[in-house]
Amino acid sequence: MLLSVKDLRVRFDTRDGAVSAVNGVSFDLRAGETLAIVGESGSGKSQTAFACLGLLARNGRASGSVTWEGREILNIPERELNRIRASEIAVIFQDPMTSLNPYMTVGDQMAEVLQLHQGASKRAALAEAARMLGAVRIPEARARLRQYPHEMSGGMRQRVMIAMALLCRPRLLIADEPTTALDVTVQAQIMALLADIRAEFGTALILITHDLGIVAGATERMLVMYGGQVMEQGTTEAVFARPLHPYTEGLLAAVPRLDRVEAELRAIPGDPPNMADLGTGCPFAPRCDRVMDVCRASMPPLEGRDRLRACHLPQEVFA
Ligand code: SF4
Repeated sequence: MLLSVKDLRVRFDTRDGAVSAVNGVSFDLRAGETLAIVGESGSGKSQTAFACLGLLARNGRASGSVTWEGREILNIPERELNRIRASEIAVIFQDPMTSLNPYMTVGDQMAEVLQLHQGASKRAALAEAARMLGAVRIPEARARLRQYPHEMSGGMRQRVMIAMALLCRPRLLIADEPTTALDVTVQAQIMALLADIRAEFGTALILITHDLGIVAGATERMLVMYGGQVMEQGTTEAVFARPLHPYTEGLLAAVPRLDRVEAELRAIPGDPPNMADLGTGCPFAPRCDRVMDVCRASMPPLEGRDRLRACHLPQEVFA
C-alpha cells in the first residue's frame, strides 16, 4: 500500500475551546490510484491531507496512524517530513499566487527545487524546468521561464504549480481544490491535464474538492466527508450511480448530471455543523430529511465491504 491512514484525528486548540476537525478517518491508497475526498467547506477534507503531510497550523494536533509505503510518518520530525514532501509527495493548492514567489521568475523558482533537492546545476535545472512546462502544455516554455507569476493567467499559473510539483517525480500528488479559482473551460483543461499526467508518470492522485462535477471521470474511488468523518466510500462510478447516504444524495442532487434528467438542482438546506460541539449523534441529523430518533442519540459506524457507509438507515431504502 502506498498510503494508509488509520483512525486519523485532528484537534485545534482555540480560544473558544477544542475544535474537532477530523474524527477517525481511515482509508488506503494504492500506487497509481486516484481518490477523491469530497465534502462541503469545513468537512475536514483538507485537514485530513494536511495532517498526513505535517502541514497543520501551529494549534493543530494529529493522532492515529499514517503510513507511507509501510513507514509511519504521522508526527515524525520536520526534517524527515521535508524530504518526503519534496521528493515523494507533492501538493498543489487552490490559489497558485499564494504558493508561487511573486519576486522570482518562474524559471528561477522551478530551478531552485531541483538545485535544492537533487543537487542539479542551474543550467540542467532550467532545462528540466522548461521540459516540465512543456509536459503541462505551456507553449513557448523557455520564454515562460523568464516571466514572473503575475504576468501569467490563473490557468497558466496553475499549470506552473503542477509542473513544479512534478519536478521531483513524486509518487503521490495531492490536489487541494485545484480548479476552484478558475473558469469552467480552464477547469476542464486542468482536469484533463491531471489525467494525462497520471497516465504519463503513473502518479497517484488525491483530489480534494467540494465540486462533485469534477470528480466523475477523474477518480476511481471517492470518500465523502461530513463533520470530520467519512459518511460514504466506494468506487466513484458506484457512488454516482447509487448513493447510499442521505448526505451523498444531497451533494449529487446539487450538481448538474448529463446521465439524468432532473427537474431542478437542489441545495442541501441548513448549515454545516459546529465542529466545536458535534455531540454524540450523526452530525448530518439536523439537515437530514430522513432523520430518526436513533440518529440524534448515536453515530452510526462506518460499515460495509467494497462500499462503506455510516447511516442508521438500511441500505435497501436507497432506490
Ligand atoms: Fe440521516 Fe440518520 Fe443517516 Fe444521519 S444516520 S444520515 S441523520 S438517516
